Amino acid sequence: MGRIEGIKDYRCFIDGNWVAAESGDVFETTDPFTAKHWANMPRCDARDVDKAVAAARAAFDTGEWSKINATQRGHLLRRLGDLIARDADHLASVEVQDNGKLYAEMRGQVGYIPQWFYYFGGMADKVEGAVMPIDKPDMFTYTRHEPIGVVAAITPWNSPLLLLAWKMAPALAAGCTMVVKPSEFTSASTLELMRLIEEAGFPKGVVNVVTGFGQDVGEALSTHPGIDKIAFTGGEFSGRKIMEKSAGNFKRLTLELGGKSAQLVFADADLDNAVKGVVSGIFAATGQTCIAGSRLLVHDSIHDEFLEKFLALAATARMGDPMDLSTQVGPVTTQPQYNRILSMIEMAKGEGASCMMGGKPADRPECGDGWFIEPTVFAGVRNDMQIAQQEVFGPVLSVIRFSDDDEAYSIANDTPYGLAAGVWTSDMARAFTAARRLRAGTIWTNTYRAVSYMMPFGGFKNSGQGRESGQDAIYDYMETKSVWMAF
Ligand code: NAD
Repeated sequence: MGRIEGIKDYRCFIDGNWVAAESGDVFETTDPFTAKHWANMPRCDARDVDKAVAAARAAFDTGEWSKINATQRGHLLRRLGDLIARDADHLASVEVQDNGKLYAEMRGQVGYIPQWFYYFGGMADKVEGAVMPIDKPDMFTYTRHEPIGVVAAITPWNSPLLLLAWKMAPALAAGCTMVVKPSEFTSASTLELMRLIEEAGFPKGVVNVVTGFGQDVGEALSTHPGIDKIAFTGGEFSGRKIMEKSAGNFKRLTLELGGKSAQLVFADADLDNAVKGVVSGIFAATGQTCIAGSRLLVHDSIHDEFLEKFLALAATARMGDPMDLSTQVGPVTTQPQYNRILSMIEMAKGEGASCMMGGKPADRPECGDGWFIEPTVFAGVRNDMQIAQQEVFGPVLSVIRFSDDDEAYSIANDTPYGLAAGVWTSDMARAFTAARRLRAGTIWTNTYRAVSYMMPFGGFKNSGQGRESGQDAIYDYMETKSVWMAF
């Protein structure tokens, strides 16, 4: 655990080789806590994408990977899982240096990533077709599930390795090959992972990484005829672009996009438990999670008491160096995001929301030169305000009152997004009703932010399409073939 000293020069990983970008250019990556440049990344463009896609295509069509069986693929995935577990301290430190999330959280997150490789590794040789009881007696018919081909994985900066694992584990288990484009803000951990891909013994060309910007590397992947599927996690705007650009050869798409998730606190909730869940739901990872519970819907009868308890707990949050195990709120990952959050805070003030806490950059000695914003709470928010409709992706909570259950569901669902919701109640009948009536891909009851390799994850509405994790995810990387034989 700890920061890498000096400036580290990374290379991208194409066809099993560590190479510079064709352009010869690099771009800088910055530590959000020190605001200092700590590594250089190759600035790839369409030429590097061509090379990476060619390598992935060759590995898929004729390479060693195309000849090994599903059981052998499963072994490779499990070996990779073991290596990630072995190196979890190092991988977590690199992520913290690159994206400023808390080491305490990232160590837990990276330590959990092997489970995706064990789970989908175990599934690789259990994908079975079916013999159909067809209505034509002179025919024998069966189905086969075959890998889709070459998958582009495009990932964001907030949880680079976890969100890559959600794509990589089912894609490789299915027999696909990959070209990965990490976020330009946080490419380091993905490249570090490639050392483990090599060590695990994956054949060359099976996984390739090209680093660079969305408008060149991302677009080149979106339009490339050699890519069969894109698995994307990121913002709604980029997701829409990818959908448009990938239409050329009807690429299959899995899109995990943004959210404006509601936390519903009913009058019968265990308030102390709910306060803890709502605080961590919005301020964990400095609010930079797609599932951030950024709208707090509280019943009128407990509004004031809840808010008082909430503000008291939130005020104790320790900010500072994300490497320090006692820190509870770290910096914002990027400077553009820092500026954007501050401008959205000003927008909320202009809309008439009451700022109960924070609402400004953090001016605390323990925050150093980092991009820190005080945990911010707006009360008196109406759901039609921009602050309640737009994703902030930062430590900003909007508090909205409701007077009955119907109104709560109606407010919660009145957003273009549908990623997640939290329900805090001691009435199980109400919990089941809420789970049915809320239009979101994940509903947590008396808990928040739990994820598992076994549970599907994804969004309704503008929060995306498709699901990651869970048994069905492997079929998102496969085509179903129907075979007919007459005799
Ligand atoms: P982003 O959309 O800016 O970038 C994500 C990735 O897409 C990056 O690698 C970027 O380079 C690439 N990209 C950008 N423009 C592109 C284009 N035109 N074509 C192809 N690729 C392009 O998102 P971000 O700022 O890195 O991440 C924050 C967003 O991600 C938030 O909206 C958040 O809600 C969302 N997110 C969603 C989930 C989920 O599972 N639903 C998880 C984490 C983050």
